[in-house]
Amino acid sequence: MAASMHIEDTIATIQIDNPPVNGLSLHLRQALSEKLAEAERNPEIRAVVLIGSDKAFCGGADIREFGTDRSQTKPRLRDIIDQLDQSTKPIVAAIGGFALGGGLELALGCHYRIALQGARLGLPEISLGILAAGGGIQRLPRIIPVEKAVDFILKGVPVPLSEALQLGLVDEIVERDLVLAARTFAKGLLHAGKGVRRIRDMVPRMADPKGYFARKRSELAKSSRGRIAPLANLDCLEVSVTRPFDEGQDYSTATFLKLVAGAESRALRHSFFAEREAAKVPDLPADTTLRPIARAAVIGAGTMGSGIAMCFANAGIPVMVIDTKQDALERSLAGITKNYAATVAKGRLSQAEMQHRLSLVTTGLHLSEVSSADIIVEAVFEDMEIKKLVFAQLDKVAKPGAILATNTSTLDVNEIGSATSRPRDVIGAHFFSPANVMRLLEVIRGKESAPDVIATTMALGKKLGKVAVLAGVCDGFIGNRILEKYRVQTMILVDLGASPQQIDRALVSWGLAMGPFAMGDLAGNDVSWLVRKHRAKIGRNYTPNPLADQLCEMGRFGQKTGKGWYRYEGGSRTPLVDPEVEAMIDAHRASLGIKPRVVTDDEIIERCIFAMANEGARIVEEGIALRSSDVDAVYLNGYGFPAHRGGPMFFADEFGLQQVAGRIRDWMSAYGGSSWVPAELLLDLAAKGGRFNGSY
Ligand code: NAD
Repeated sequence: MAASMHIEDTIATIQIDNPPVNGLSLHLRQALSEKLAEAERNPEIRAVVLIGSDKAFCGGADIREFGTDRSQTKPRLRDIIDQLDQSTKPIVAAIGGFALGGGLELALGCHYRIALQGARLGLPEISLGILAAGGGIQRLPRIIPVEKAVDFILKGVPVPLSEALQLGLVDEIVERDLVLAARTFAKGLLHAGKGVRRIRDMVPRMADPKGYFARKRSELAKSSRGRIAPLANLDCLEVSVTRPFDEGQDYSTATFLKLVAGAESRALRHSFFAEREAAKVPDLPADTTLRPIARAAVIGAGTMGSGIAMCFANAGIPVMVIDTKQDALERSLAGITKNYAATVAKGRLSQAEMQHRLSLVTTGLHLSEVSSADIIVEAVFEDMEIKKLVFAQLDKVAKPGAILATNTSTLDVNEIGSATSRPRDVIGAHFFSPANVMRLLEVIRGKESAPDVIATTMALGKKLGKVAVLAGVCDGFIGNRILEKYRVQTMILVDLGASPQQIDRALVSWGLAMGPFAMGDLAGNDVSWLVRKHRAKIGRNYTPNPLADQLCEMGRFGQKTGKGWYRYEGGSRTPLVDPEVEAMIDAHRASLGIKPRVVTDDEIIERCIFAMANEGARIVEEGIALRSSDVDAVYLNGYGFPAHRGGPMFFADEFGLQQVAGRIRDWMSAYGGSSWVPAELLLDLAAKGGRFNGSY
């Protein structure tokens, strides 16, 4: 049963029950509508309480119904909210857990709202490229000050509960017994002779809406970087505030229908589902018991080890950091303390919480000190011999059943596991830098990794607030293997005639967080130079990059040396064009006999993103990634790929795989053609008119 009603002392309690989040699917809407009609008809009932559970009032619309007939089948969300609004008997929303999106709209359709301590109330629709067209965008700026409503809607973040009370969004906050409190609240209303109080009848308070919205619009035009939903939300807010309620609602509905069918929202919904899907590992038995993780250890107190230790401390897990060098441990602790202190200074962490987290981090100089850890993450130098030595030692000192994880970026997890007598306990846990900030965790499954080790590491990722994506063993796993192909195309584009700054600008204005050349300068061009030299020496996975080698030979390592692909003045991070680099590129092209041509921004985007998608397809084909959406999840969470483009695989889908395959064929017969080996999966799907991912 999706909705039930219980009557006691003239008060009806309607409870909605559609696990896990009380999503407003058609069958729930139908059931709720029936109960509301019954409550309206029954003369014994004088007031109504609408409640979900303590954990979830309502998580909003059922996203899977978006764009389908079901979402527009009556009663639509908007009809239910009208029904609440028009009730002649006061309705109290009793909010436990969260009221988000359509869930908050439902609560705003009620006449009063009380919330359980800890509840989250917000309209996050903008993050899915849509808007709160179930009346939220009309009602929020009527019940709270317009500027506040605009702020919360454009950011898509929950309203802090104490602020919600202060602003009048909720009438009361209770610590416990939500249903009892709501019924008592309803009785109090009746007792005081208070009836319905419709938000639609309230008048938005704002002195100069025209000037305010004009200012906001020009601010947003700059910050929304080509995204459509932010400006569309602002337009709807302006109509809501300046026009009659129903006019605003019609305008929002029409805008919603356009947005939901558009490319941006489809991509954002894909990004949302890709993240959820990544957690599912089909070949792990559903009843796999997880290993308990109460204590952790990290080996290596460098950049990564320190960040990983913070991840554990942030999740409340005690962690011991081991390094062979005392000064490395001291530097690490000082860095962690400084990082937390900066968060405290920004008001995002209390001093007490900082102290608590720091108290969870301990240090040691000997591997034998990790014997009580349930998981040990190795983050020493990227050198197979050193890693094998560390794992052989861990094998001797770690307790039975401890998970032995490596943070290697490129090395073979199977070979690392072979240094132990327990390869089933060995797995890759590839964090990204800075580890305490980046959301991606690639979990690398060795050929012997035990199912419960895989399941526990994936679950641990979630506990650490990461998006964990499972990958198989190969050079670079999912993310860095694709990055290599992307880098190759950026260099071909330079050969052809594009400048590093044109490439960076084109990709950033398309939505990437950073261009590849500015990124190289930030990370240090010498890092990949060393990797290339090493690979050339061992004769494996080597891709020449003569121009980048030359750059490093000139000592242009990047920001740290004040010059790289760009020059940097007086310690500034602003990249400036350097004639020395231009001359180097000109000479390089001349040595290849290339006459530079005009390269369009479209060609830059297509070559770079299709190179990612093509390699992504090979990765799926080889079973390194479980599914195409996992490749997208990796790029969205670890490589600054814009969510509103949906990831490289989704972008290729939307472009049309036949067209993508056609472009690749053209490039194969042109300069740099040998860099393209089209994936079978791509060609196959292109021939069938298929897609890597589902459509929305
Ligand atoms: P780093 O050089 O900053 O730190 C390595 C630390 O390990 C040093 O403090 C060193 O003293 C310590 N160490 C070396 N041998 C040791 C041993 N036998 N026992 C204990 N401690 C030892 O390196 P990093 O950048 O933090 O990288 C560590 C690992 O993480 C590498 O495998 C790297 O490929 C991987 N990784 C790095 C990044 C990144 O962006 N830096 C990203 C992902 C993964």
